[in-house]
Amino acid sequence: MTPEDFRRHAHELVDWMADYMETVEQYPVRAQTAPGEIAATLPDAPPAEGEPMDRIFEDFKTDVMPGITHWQHPRFFAYFPANSSPPSVLAEMLTATLGAQCMLWQTSPAATEMETKVLDWLRQMTGLPAGLTGVIQDSASGAILCALLTAREKATEWQANEKGLGAQPKLTVYTSNQTHSATEKNVKIIGLGRENLRAIDVDESFALRPELLEAQIEADIAAGCVPTCVVASVGATGVGAVDPLRAIGEICERHDIFLHVDAAWAGTAWLLPEQRWMLDGIEYADSLVFNPHKWMLTNFDCSAHYVRDPNALVRTLSILPEFLKSREQGKIIDYRDWSVPLGRRFRALKLWMVIRSYGADGLRRIVRSHIDLAAELERWIAAEPDFEIVAPRSLALINFRYRPKDVREGEGLDRINAVLLERINDDGRIYLTQNKVRGQAAIRFSIGQTNTEHRHVAEGWDVVKEIARNLDSAAIL
Ligand code: PLP
Repeated sequence: MTPEDFRRHAHELVDWMADYMETVEQYPVRAQTAPGEIAATLPDAPPAEGEPMDRIFEDFKTDVMPGITHWQHPRFFAYFPANSSPPSVLAEMLTATLGAQCMLWQTSPAATEMETKVLDWLRQMTGLPAGLTGVIQDSASGAILCALLTAREKATEWQANEKGLGAQPKLTVYTSNQTHSATEKNVKIIGLGRENLRAIDVDESFALRPELLEAQIEADIAAGCVPTCVVASVGATGVGAVDPLRAIGEICERHDIFLHVDAAWAGTAWLLPEQRWMLDGIEYADSLVFNPHKWMLTNFDCSAHYVRDPNALVRTLSILPEFLKSREQGKIIDYRDWSVPLGRRFRALKLWMVIRSYGADGLRRIVRSHIDLAAELERWIAAEPDFEIVAPRSLALINFRYRPKDVREGEGLDRINAVLLERINDDGRIYLTQNKVRGQAAIRFSIGQTNTEHRHVAEGWDVVKEIARNLDSAAIL
């Protein structure tokens, strides 16, 4: 493709992209295709010769688009948001065009220096303490992995990387029973088993109970284990539980345990001074992560990982073969040493463009509006006698269930809610996610798309009520 051809196709695609942004509300939110339906439209073998871009783009529209779930739809209320914005998309276009691999300072000084600067902007915008240094990871899971590896090295006095785990005592990791599954996955990845992971019970607000944490740590020490890391949650996935960082931090300090804070979703709310109560005790954290790629208008992937001691992270992850040496070593940052993959995209650019384009206050207004909308939805749900809120609202996340008078507590109610959710998502006007809260079926309604307004939430709630009240409970049970 010549640069002139590229120009023509790019203009065409940008027109399509702008139209898509304008008309995204017209699509069903969740893809309505059956398993295998898209695969059936794709040839089994690759083309031997190149095909014209016009034809490829037509196939994209007809064959691919039906299988897309529209995460940027303003009535997307499933999972957690993965919101985006025009400045972020523009930045991704530039990143792709430059195609820079930013593993070393030398392989694109601007990428490294912008990453350092923009993560410090973000630290200031969110009220995080000055002693934290940031790096962009691909995911919160990646940040948890880096944190656990660093904690493992510290707990084994830097022996695990050298000698493996064979000679080490049993290392234990602590988290609440609400934590995201990424913690368990990473415990396995660092060579520990599920039995090295302690899932501590929570209180009525689903927050980790510090007294149980300390009792477990003491019992483990008495049994010869080495408590290695506590992973605290700020905005755990199920109901958005917030663990008490100060009490947990004091325990970690007393027992010299590494503390990682997983705020993948909720961290963006720290933009708002009124939500910074969650940060009380953050000075105890050795490491924390939140994802601008969830709620801060920045395309996936962009996880902001902050550490108190970058040297410990680098000492854990650094391996220096000949070809990666550079003459600037020691004077600059080589981010290859700060994460698991060697190769790095220029991810700071989209964060820089988003922050500059919206400004800190512009971002604050959007995040605050999502929380206000969720508070209003909470009132609407509470006002309906046949619906019930099953966990305290956390920021812009609500868990509720349908509870018609004629259905008794138990499996029947779970079944009704499962069918309700299926019908809602098949309907296509909104998209929600199932949950289990204290063992009972619940439905999560999570607000956070860039263009979600009052009318979208109101329409969403009307859809839930309409479909619920058309259910025939007797037929379902
Ligand atoms: N932690 C929490 C609390 C999450 O909600 C999520 C994802 O929703 C993750 C971790 C995993 O995030 P990532 O997809 O960036 O690994």
